[in-house]
Amino acid sequence: MALKFRCENCGKDVIVEFLKVGEIAECKHCFAELIVPEDATETDESTTEGKKVAKGLQSQEVVCTECYSTFNAAPKRSFGGFLKFVCPKCHESVLYPLMPRSRKGYWMLFILMAILAVMVIAEGGIPIPGLVGIGVIFALIKDACIKKRVQAALDQRRKSE
Ligand SMILES: [Zn+2]
Ligand SMILES: [Zn+2]
Repeated sequence: MALKFRCENCGKDVIVEFLKVGEIAECKHCFAELIVPEDATETDESTTEGKKVAKGLQSQEVVCTECYSTFNAAPKRSFGGFLKFVCPKCHESVLYPLMPRSRKGYWMLFILMAILAVMVIAEGGIPIPGLVGIGVIFALIKDACIKKRVQAALDQRRKSE
């Protein structure tokens, strides 16, 4: 049985499946951290994105960035936290942007590095990004590119409908 309550941050319904009253949940709409309230109601509705994010393996609707067809598939987690699907029509692999949790992690690392770089500069040094730093920047750029590609594919899809 899942619990349903209203997000106090964005006002949308949040459904959690594996949490109890008083535990911390994440709103799948605005990613706010919420405490499951006592007036949460039991529901048969299944969680949608929240669960997909947590498990990472539930199927979801995907638009192919090569042939623009849509299909339902379970993602495979690829290197760096990106989601990877294989299009059943053209057999190309389709990359999807980072899961919100991974993206948050990357941004936190990025901010940490920026602070460190400022500290190095303040002491008169030259900040040199290490391998991790380059990886983080690369992942964030890649994430933005993939988002654009998926958005473009969705636009194409809408035009052809
Ligand atoms: Zn919310
Ligand atoms: Zn395709």
